[in-house]
Amino acid sequence: MRGSTACHGQSTQRYGGNTSCVSVDIGSDSPIIFDLGTGLRYLSCSEDDSAAPKPFVGACLLTHLHWDHLQGLPFFKSLLHSDTVIDIYGPRQPDGESLCDAFITKICPPTFPICINEFAATINFHEIGDDDFAIGETKVMSRFVPHTGPTLGFRVTANNTTVTYLSDHQQPAGDFALTTGARQLCQNTDLLIHDSQFTPAEFATKSNWGHSTLEFAMWVAETTSAKRLALFHHDPSRSDDALDVIAGRLAGIAQNRGFQVFAAADEMSVKVSAVVS
Ligand SMILES: [Zn+2]
Ligand SMILES: [Zn+2]
Repeated sequence: MRGSTACHGQSTQRYGGNTSCVSVDIGSDSPIIFDLGTGLRYLSCSEDDSAAPKPFVGACLLTHLHWDHLQGLPFFKSLLHSDTVIDIYGPRQPDGESLCDAFITKICPPTFPICINEFAATINFHEIGDDDFAIGETKVMSRFVPHTGPTLGFRVTANNTTVTYLSDHQQPAGDFALTTGARQLCQNTDLLIHDSQFTPAEFATKSNWGHSTLEFAMWVAETTSAKRLALFHHDPSRSDDALDVIAGRLAGIAQNRGFQVFAAADEMSVKVSAVVS
């Protein structure tokens, strides 16, 4: 998986080139999806592309409205089924524009053949900010986090297990630090999925692009006592071979500091439990 833009080619095919989309399967409840990047398309794909669309009922926790977090939605085949119902929880916009209107004005002609509200599915929009709420049996914490424009991070808890998602997170320009909200999201989480886009050398020239270094992601995990860290939102220019080297080096460091780290990949499935064996 990659951040910022989808990419294709041999150098990125093992970790994958889709943009941000993570499905959380809670078991008894409907799935919760973090973000609507190009990976969303594969949630509705079958081997036979001519097969009829299947209904989907679930929720999406949307961090923000950048393209790489929206572009999978109009290609989600289940939108063609009238029994599909998606509840999208996304950040309240600062200019007063409703979340629904923000989607309608972004997914519409001439940039897409039809408007998002012309699909057969029902899409319900929920505007949120620094909130605590429930989706079924799952507790959700949302907090604004530094990025570019209004951006949320999420913490979901079900069956005494917690997953935290900070896909796009601006690292401070100076000393490492966390906002109160970001710390609340990460503290003692069982799995932290965190922006790891840049090396320090890249960050030196892109320090206000809204992202984190791999080292900052490691520091966030350690300082908040996260049990596992998934490096996420890989830079599209980072090759799989380079990621292998980085993830291998960081795994050794993390082991000495009492947590685990790995690089997230397309179609990767991770079982999360409150106790790591
Ligand atoms: Zn992004
Ligand atoms: Zn972004």
